[in-house]
Amino acid sequence: MATLGWPALRQAVADCQACGLCASRTQTVFGVGHEGAHWMVVGEAPGEQEDLSGEPFVGAAGQLLDRMLAALQLTRSTEGPEPPSRRVYIANTLKCRPPRNRNPAPEEMLQCEPYLLRQIDLLQPRMILAMGRFAVQALLRSSEPVGKLRGRVHRYHGVPLVVTYHPAYLLRNLPDKARAWEDLCLAAGVAQAGIDQADAEQTDPPSPNP
Ligand code: URA
Repeated sequence: MATLGWPALRQAVADCQACGLCASRTQTVFGVGHEGAHWMVVGEAPGEQEDLSGEPFVGAAGQLLDRMLAALQLTRSTEGPEPPSRRVYIANTLKCRPPRNRNPAPEEMLQCEPYLLRQIDLLQPRMILAMGRFAVQALLRSSEPVGKLRGRVHRYHGVPLVVTYHPAYLLRNLPDKARAWEDLCLAAGVAQAGIDQADAEQTDPPSPNP
């Protein structure tokens, strides 16, 4: 797995039969977005619409996610003139839909996580947004509730990671939308600071030798 590039990883996911979800899926849902995106959004698992279309977050939760990203001038699109700092790659913890959208089972998480971790390795994002408790479990190895982990910056292999509510949860719990917006603003601030620092390092003249 550690040596796979994007095309081979995509094929490995398409061919995967590591858990029982391969029997009920229409297709695998690999991920969407520019492979040079600075942002990575990690969700839970495909739902019905995603299983049918092969793209993550295309249902109602996805539309909410897109609106929140657009408010920060971020896009999942691979087209257009946007720089990498405005692009988002979106992937799920599970690549196959659990029947009737039940929660991912521990065994399914275990089998599927290496694909997500390799996607992160290949993408090398500057900011990871972990949405919902299954993304948190996979990336932070924490079973703490989202409400306890949100509002601060964590790290995944050195990459800043912000925890927030899953958009499907937000659709049922509208008052928490304001908190999710705070989380996104926190992430945007941290991402921008990282980009400013990288720019400064590129343009600063080398410090004189002592
Ligand atoms: N919920 C998720 O976590 N991922 C999707 O792709 C769709 C809904």
